[in-house]
Amino acid sequence: MTANFSALLLDIEGTVCPISFVKETLFPYFLQQADSLPHSKDLHIRSLLQKFEVDDVVAHIRSLVSQDIKDPVLKELQGLVWLNGYASGEITAPVYTDAINYIQTTEKPVYIYSSGSVKAQKLLFQYVAGDQGTIDLRPKLQNYYDINTSGTKTNSQSYMKIANDIGLPPAEILFLSDNSLELDAAKDAGLQVKLVIRPGNAPVDYQGKYDIVTNFNVL
Ligand SMILES: [Mg+2]
Repeated sequence: MTANFSALLLDIEGTVCPISFVKETLFPYFLQQADSLPHSKDLHIRSLLQKFEVDDVVAHIRSLVSQDIKDPVLKELQGLVWLNGYASGEITAPVYTDAINYIQTTEKPVYIYSSGSVKAQKLLFQYVAGDQGTIDLRPKLQNYYDINTSGTKTNSQSYMKIANDIGLPPAEILFLSDNSLELDAAKDAGLQVKLVIRPGNAPVDYQGKYDIVTNFNVL
């Protein structure tokens, strides 16, 4: 195994887990739970519902979701519903086995950078689906970055900021993502980059610009 980087920065969707997880698991799970939310025993959930100030809160939630409106109360509500789903074992995160193995065994520090909130990222890595039940990968992860902490993923300044926070020269950090715009931005910031290709990812027109990773065993 050649090692010419000192730290690893990982995207989540399409890189360490299937791109479909959020769309086909998390969002449908939230919608399934929507009808029962007004009857929830979770006081935090009930107080959030009151913030919507509408008569038919379930219809309101469904309409926000179907129009993809980024409502902060909706976001917080989704976070709580997913938390309950993970905690009850109804949801587990399908992190690829090679990524689990790498994160568990590498001696290099591993960091996460995703558009999903840091809170959602931590939940995902707390409840990873493993052969023998769920695996908590959080002890193996050094830190998490999102749009709020670091800016958008297609802006090179975001990566400079992250490198600065990690405390390493950008050239010593390897960033892995399935998105070529993110890789371009990270490369502009001086990071090493590789394109991850996983089953189900959209085809990328990368024109041979990047090394390809299909399995973390060969990092
Ligand atoms: Mg991605």
